[in-house]
Parts: sequence; C-alpha cells; structure tokens
Amino acid sequence: MKFLIMGPPGAGKGSQAARIKNHLDITSISTGQMFRDAYKAGDPIGIKAMTYIEDGNLVDDKTTNNIVWQRLTSDEQLENFILDGYPRTVNQAKALDDMLDKLDTKLDGVLNILISEDVLFERMEQRRVCKDCGATYHLTFKPPIKEGVCDVCGGALYQRQDDKHESVKNRLEIYKNKTKPLLDYYDKKGILYNINGMQSFENVHEDIMLVLEDL
Ligand code: AMP
Repeated sequence: MKFLIMGPPGAGKGSQAARIKNHLDITSISTGQMFRDAYKAGDPIGIKAMTYIEDGNLVDDKTTNNIVWQRLTSDEQLENFILDGYPRTVNQAKALDDMLDKLDTKLDGVLNILISEDVLFERMEQRRVCKDCGATYHLTFKPPIKEGVCDVCGGALYQRQDDKHESVKNRLEIYKNKTKPLLDYYDKKGILYNINGMQSFENVHEDIMLVLEDL
C-alpha cells in the first residue's frame, strides 16, 4: 500500500503518520523530517533547506524531488509507505507520478485531513517537537508527561521556528496557493479521501484506518 497524507500545516499529518506507521508497520517518509535530519547532520542539502524552512517558505521543487527520489530508491524495501508532507506543489505531484512510474508502481490513495484555520493557529503555536527523535506534542491536548522532556526518548522539546506566529501565517498562505490545488489533482484521479480532522486524535486515526481497510 502506498499513500499520501495531506492537509494544511498543523492538521496533525506527522502525528497521524507516526500512529499509522506503528499500527501497520509501514515506512513513513516525511520530507520535513528529512530536511531537519539533513540539517542536523550538517549535510549541505539540509543547510540550504533550512534557509527556506525558517521563514515558512517551501524548499525548491528540484531539491525536494531529489531527496524523495533518493529515499524511494534507497536499499530499504519500500513495498508499503506513507508520504507525509510531500508533494506540496502540482509540480512535485507530477514528479512523484513520474518517479512511481519508473518504479513500476502507483499511489493507492490520498488522505486529506480537513480542519478550520483558527484551530490550526492554536495547534501550531502549542506544538512542541523532540529535538532528538522528532516526536510531536501539543501543550494542551497531548502534553508530555514531564514538561519539556520527550516521553519517547527523554530528549529536550522545542518550538520549531516555523511554528511561530508570522511563519504560521506565511505557511498557511503558501498552503492555500500552492498545495490546495493538489486536492483537485488527486480528486480527478479518483483517489482522494477526506478525513474530518476536527475530532480527537484517536477518532481521526480510526477514520483513517477505515479508509485504508478499503484501499
Ligand atoms: P513539515 O515538517 O512537513 O511541516 O515541513 C517543514 C518545512 O519543510 C515546510 O514548511 C517546508 O519549508 C519544508 N518542506 C517539507 N516538505 C516540503 C515539500 N514537499 N516541498 C517544499 N518544502 C517542504
């Protein structure tokens, strides 16, 4: 099974992808996480990407497509995967179709988490991320057991620069202009499944699993 998880920034894509990954034992590929890991490792791609990311802008399509192609063609068996945060532009979606064509495969479905804008702002400003393992928390709805410390690995939690107010505004604008048109692209292919994101984390997960069972 190969599918995407989409939705505006702050919709909970990353947390849901991690939950699905554990539930189905499937590989989760997050371009945002790959950029952050590359930056931490001092890789030039990560350092270049971070200049876009910190302002809430999209990394250019060429760099992003390359990092995904490298991942899809790495040694690891990629029979089943969930892509989180990619594609984010129509050009990237077309590039992904080409990549999957070359690998003689295709997407089975696109999950789209629907959520209102004011909820998004509230969520992103309260999001905290583990600097070591990338696990995400929400100060109100999914707080860590011990303040500032990751439940999973004990790493320190921080607020991503791009989760600060001005950056969030910019990311939402970019989402509307560049990423939302993708929903039409996948709807026309008949593989778009909308999920109500305005419910508890577990209920969103259950709705996702219902869709995946039918794919
Ligand atoms: P995320 O962790 O998915 O929220 O991504 C964090 C940031 O990484 C985004 O705001 C972008 O700056 C960058 N990024 C992640 N995925 C992509 C992508 N597919 N295209 C361009 N930039 C991306």
